[in-house]
Amino acid sequence: PDRSFSGRRALVTGAGKGIGRAAALALSGAGAQVIALSRTQADLESLEREGTGIETLCVDLGDWDATEAALSKVDAIDLLVNNAAVAVLQPFLEVTKEAFDSSFNVNLRAVFHVSQIISRQMIARGVQGAIVNISSQASQRALRDHAVYCSTKSALDMLTKVMALELGPHKIRVNSVNPTVVMTEMGQINWSEPQKAAAMISRIPLGKFAEVDDVVNSILFLLSDKSAMTTGVSLPVDGGFLVS
Ligand code: NDP
Repeated sequence: PDRSFSGRRALVTGAGKGIGRAAALALSGAGAQVIALSRTQADLESLEREGTGIETLCVDLGDWDATEAALSKVDAIDLLVNNAAVAVLQPFLEVTKEAFDSSFNVNLRAVFHVSQIISRQMIARGVQGAIVNISSQASQRALRDHAVYCSTKSALDMLTKVMALELGPHKIRVNSVNPTVVMTEMGQINWSEPQKAAAMISRIPLGKFAEVDDVVNSILFLLSDKSAMTTGVSLPVDGGFLVS
């Protein structure tokens, strides 16, 4: 078995379900000590039962102070996956303050906050860290009813670049993966309607949505030394959607 992450400690946010959960299990399987952060305790308990030795942290990343308190108990992280996000779909003319604030707080503000805390620790320890932000094809294309979500992910792509610029001299790499639709719980809520799904698939050159493992493989690549000279990029996992 691949043990290429042996001796490394990884923090994965939004690890209760979907892509984050699969990334946490894959990293653990490849030898990393994983700290899985999410906000539903039952998901974390089932993850503890499933993955050998995964540690868990239950916190709502929308809550700045609670996040800071929870992360004060975490140290010596080498690898960070900023995966937690919400997708609240509303037509532009009906976007509410609540949807705007809650989305930006989780999808963008928490990435700033968690990354600041973890990067400061990496710099203090002098380790070569790697950070992967989970963005989306929606960062670079306008999608109906996605004004808030697209805006959070577009900002996340730019944050990835500025973090790469400022953290590079500290030997910390920062990249994003930008998937097309994946049929996780989030994907199912937003893309189960057959006509909507078919319209999206028709715009994807490879003619299908992404699998969770497609995204996880790219996350692991960008966390690993195989991408040692790559920082500040947005890696599409989109079957070619962004070139179509
Ligand atoms: P899911 O909704 O299936 O899982 C998201 C996870 O993040 C859940 O465990 C959720 O916990 C957690 N989470 C959400 N908000 C918070 C919060 N405030 N604090 C702590 N944890 C939180 O989503 P996916 O796995 O599909 O998405 C993962 C990432 O991939 C996201 O960044 C998403 O934007 C991105 N992405 C997804 C695509 C898709 O089609 N699925 C396409 C492109 C990008 P809980 O359920 O308890 O709220």
